[in-house]
Amino acid sequence: MPYRDPYFRLLIEHSTDAIALVNKEGHLIYVSPAIEQILGYTPQQFLKVKPTDIIHTDELGYITQIAASATTSRGKTINFICRAKHTNGTWRWIDVTCTNLFHVPELQAVVINFRDITEQKEIESRKDEFISVASHELKTPLATLKGFSQILISSSEKISDPRILYFSHKINDQIDRLSALVNDLLDVSKIQAGKLSLNKENFEIDNLIREITVDMQNIITSHKIEIKLSANTKICADKYRISQVMANLISNAVKYSPNAKTILITSKRVNGHVEICVMDFGIGIFKKDISHIFERFYQARNKIRKSFSGLGLGLYICSEILKQHNGKIWVESEKGIGSTFFIKLPVK
Ligand code: ADP
Repeated sequence: MPYRDPYFRLLIEHSTDAIALVNKEGHLIYVSPAIEQILGYTPQQFLKVKPTDIIHTDELGYITQIAASATTSRGKTINFICRAKHTNGTWRWIDVTCTNLFHVPELQAVVINFRDITEQKEIESRKDEFISVASHELKTPLATLKGFSQILISSSEKISDPRILYFSHKINDQIDRLSALVNDLLDVSKIQAGKLSLNKENFEIDNLIREITVDMQNIITSHKIEIKLSANTKICADKYRISQVMANLISNAVKYSPNAKTILITSKRVNGHVEICVMDFGIGIFKKDISHIFERFYQARNKIRKSFSGLGLGLYICSEILKQHNGKIWVESEKGIGSTFFIKLPVK
């Protein structure tokens, strides 16, 4: 190892993360002893291992690209995770960080940090599996409850007790809320398993927005939904999933603007794309939260957080639906003024 200060050498050699150095010729010239704990190889053995011997074939392609960019971009840090084979034959999940320090005279190497995150990954996958099983199991009894609640409503309409009718409607509304939550969990499981498939067809996007607005306005009494539509084009997309995105953005706009009265929806054509905006005049989003709100289970913190229910899944599902359409979703927002969510979809 070129760096010989005994104090720092000891620190590196006793770290639970493995540290490696790759020189300008692309050769591995050092790896710290922790590699033995992580992948079973002694440092001497590991220096002779080829990436193709240990990296999972699914990840080999993009890792080769990453490795190329790590050796060419001075000062750049790149982080990724991959599966590597332990000498005992099991696959380990490794979090890898590469920093190009070719310009530092004492090092002149790419410094690579390896951390074993297999346990963390297993907990995550058990959590995903639990969500998937639980939401599937909840779906059937919920559908049965929904059927009975509708029978209850029509029966109580015949009895002249307004309280029974009122409570039957309450039961029905709560079943709908529960079904929406379960459906979100099911969608997340499908996304995680790469099974969110699209049924694409050609349709007029402005007509779809009009239909959704009418449907939602029928249930939303607190706000007036205004529309200004000028996309005036057909798109090829999954109608059901695009309606889901729109419904989500509209219900968020209502939910997060309790003191406003209007939601504005616009559409227009921009260079081979359709751009749709859903604008509210509500609580807005802090700048620090903006880059996170499309993440799974993320909910922005704010003083009145407690008044808003939800799982923090809606925007994650929306962004995955748009990704699958080669589209995009983003937000512009100012705290206390309001938020505008934009979606962009290719016309063809
Ligand atoms: P949920 O609404 O269930 O919490 P979402 O994924 O729909 O989950 O939204 C994630 C977070 O983004 C919300 O918790 C909220 O803090 C923020 N957010 C979403 N839409 C708006 C909006 N129109 N105005 C302000 N904040 C919003």
